[in-house]
Amino acid sequence: MKKRQPHVPMARFVEAMPETSGNAVNGLGETEVRQASPFFWHPPKRQTHAALQKEVINYLQSCPEIAEVFSPKPPGGRGPATVEQAAEVESGSAEEWSERVKGFALANEADLVGIARMDPAFVFDGYEITDPWVIVVGVGMDYEELAQTPATFENPVGAVVVGKEYNRASRACKKLANFILEAGYPAKAWPGPYASALNMIPAALAAGLGELGKHGSIINRTLGSRFRLSAVTTTMPLLADSSDEFGIDDYCTRCNACTRACPPDAIFEEKQMVRGVEKWYVDFDKCIPYFGETFGCGICIVHCPWSRPGIADNILRKLAKAADRDDG
Ligand code: SF4
Ligand code: SF4
Repeated sequence: MKKRQPHVPMARFVEAMPETSGNAVNGLGETEVRQASPFFWHPPKRQTHAALQKEVINYLQSCPEIAEVFSPKPPGGRGPATVEQAAEVESGSAEEWSERVKGFALANEADLVGIARMDPAFVFDGYEITDPWVIVVGVGMDYEELAQTPATFENPVGAVVVGKEYNRASRACKKLANFILEAGYPAKAWPGPYASALNMIPAALAAGLGELGKHGSIINRTLGSRFRLSAVTTTMPLLADSSDEFGIDDYCTRCNACTRACPPDAIFEEKQMVRGVEKWYVDFDKCIPYFGETFGCGICIVHCPWSRPGIADNILRKLAKAADRDDG
């Protein structure tokens, strides 16, 4: 096979890289379990890579179509203003409320929804979330648009779709938070892409939205990795969903489509020890410069076979058949 030329990052991103490796901040190689440190997409004062983040955002804003969709007032908006919490609490069991919030979310711009009991692992170090429940929402991205990655000034579609769906995820979580507030319970919406206290990936895994893939993104059994997340935390009585395991760990061990497709070779082929847990891991220091110059990259998501519409069902059927053969 022809060897790919090594990717040479743009000077503006190399110059903005701090001395501290992003992988060190993420705890690569650490054997003790600990909370994740606030990192990229966090407020500048809370993180080590603020200058690099600023450079990535400046570059993103130099493309008008991408700047518009990531602006505070994008087409379609970012969702309603927060309503007052109702003085009277509407009664309902945890089972009833779980059904109602999921039904509301799915009828109000969400494509996926799951519930998890709050866990310290879902909170970035130095922050606190006291709500006992997190409702995680996923919104799908159009594959044909996403497949136009990497985005360029001439064709920014692959980045515009990401911004567009982050905005839908924002609207979905804000509407859901208002629904809960109107029922008399506290609720807080957590839209992306900027991060704050809530570490959304572990929460989404616990809420049953999918399994972690080798490319560091979640793989869902229907949407693959072509979706974006937002969330709502609340004290409303709810029931936790189970995590959804359908063979991704094994599948990723045999498939290297994302590692082969990643231009800066950022995706580790083997699991790594990260903050006391062996897991799939993407080399931040290699990924981000390419991510920056392509307005968010996403090549690994597009190349993941699970992300192609209509393919996930086929793969699941094959995995089920293989499991039956192994059992028999
Ligand atoms: S986002 Fe792009 S650079 Fe980063 S891991 Fe995926 S393919 Fe590689
Ligand atoms: S492309 Fe293959 S190895 Fe990479 S995340 Fe998807 S299934 Fe796993």
